[in-house]
Amino acid sequence: MQKHYFKDGLIGAGWASDICMHVGAGGLITKLETGVKAPSGAPTHATVLPAMPNLHSHAFQRAFAGLAEFRTPGESDFWSWRNAMYHFAAHMTPEAVEVIASALYIEMLKAGYSAVGEFHYLHNSHVDQALAMSDAIITAAKQTGIALTHLPVLYQTSDFGSVPANKSQAPFLHADGEYDRLLKILAPRLKGPHRLGLCFHSLRAVPEDAFDAAIGTMNELDDTAPIHIHVAEQMREVEACVKATGKRPVEWLLNNQPVDERWCLIHATHVTEDEWRGVAERGAVVGLCPATEANLGDGIFPAAGFSAVGGRFGIGSDSHISIDPREELRLLEYGQRLSRHARTVLTASGGGHTGEFLWSQATKGGAQALGQPIGEIAVGRRADLIVLDRTSPTFAASTLSQMLDAFVFVGQPNPISDVMVAGEWVVKAGRHAKEEHVFARYNDLVGRIAAKMEDA
Ligand SMILES: [Zn+2]
Repeated sequence: MQKHYFKDGLIGAGWASDICMHVGAGGLITKLETGVKAPSGAPTHATVLPAMPNLHSHAFQRAFAGLAEFRTPGESDFWSWRNAMYHFAAHMTPEAVEVIASALYIEMLKAGYSAVGEFHYLHNSHVDQALAMSDAIITAAKQTGIALTHLPVLYQTSDFGSVPANKSQAPFLHADGEYDRLLKILAPRLKGPHRLGLCFHSLRAVPEDAFDAAIGTMNELDDTAPIHIHVAEQMREVEACVKATGKRPVEWLLNNQPVDERWCLIHATHVTEDEWRGVAERGAVVGLCPATEANLGDGIFPAAGFSAVGGRFGIGSDSHISIDPREELRLLEYGQRLSRHARTVLTASGGGHTGEFLWSQATKGGAQALGQPIGEIAVGRRADLIVLDRTSPTFAASTLSQMLDAFVFVGQPNPISDVMVAGEWVVKAGRHAKEEHVFARYNDLVGRIAAKMEDA
């Protein structure tokens, strides 16, 4: 058992001072005392907050973040991004995936994310190759110390109506029966803070008759495992779904699949009021990725109404155009402000602090979506936490109850000093022990792949 002392922090739903946290087996919090000073010789850390779960990541996309910010005359607006994505996807070996994911996960930890949902769709067809790709992700998580919910993706078709996948989608596919085999082999490899979940790429990529079998296989392994799917990200997809099924994507999902608290609907950008009310009633989490959704021009999720009826949401860095939970939350709130011509939109019913509401809701929603016992500093939860540097000018004028508002809306540069995952410090004084070595490997590899894109 370890004891950690903090000057103050957010414990459960309230602020407390002079905190002593007891951490036991598996990194779980066994006891929380307040009004307790550290004995001489024991360090007292500054302000403690629950760390943020990152519920949606495609690790390899980090490697081309920033390379698709141009338009070629005559091409569609989406072309430069998709072209970069297929180029990098085609160069992903297990070693490349491990190098990129390791660097990415260190960046995430330093930004305040303690856990990641890796929506992993690079399989290279055969189960041995798929396994090597998944192992690369698992190795990256283990060597950097981030908690992983691994979500190998089922991807079978390129559009509604079972349109066959095209050549550039080949790395995303599995041969017949191999997705089930992959789940069965991976399940026992994910222990401790790591776990397996089920993942459907989208309604475009998974025919209706494939859902039941995959859910059945997952339930035999773990009937509490999270289930993720991309849905209703762009209007084109909504229109194609209506044409093919007569229903909108979220409407179809609610009518045809057992959507409940295990499910995480990634994006869900284009939803009617009936749809978002339906999602809220089922207790599913909406996985919002505001920086990526803004970068891709997807649209704005109606978070104000959804949140007002108790809808659950979390955040993900998705394409990794930004790796900063504060920026995701700011953009989420600012999208609501700009579209409603109002300030402080996302707060608890009856009002309150926006920054605190956003951080608390997204930590809890993210924890549910990843199926991880985190999201709050409380007895029985895992000790996944961040410590803020109170000497940062960001906090000069803040009382304790204003800390999260300043952190989310002002916090530049990053005022996180330390990060703990499952009771272990993984970032200390703003540094990860492996960052120099891992970033050097990353820079070398990504530079080489990018150079090939210029030659092509
Ligand atoms: Zn995604």
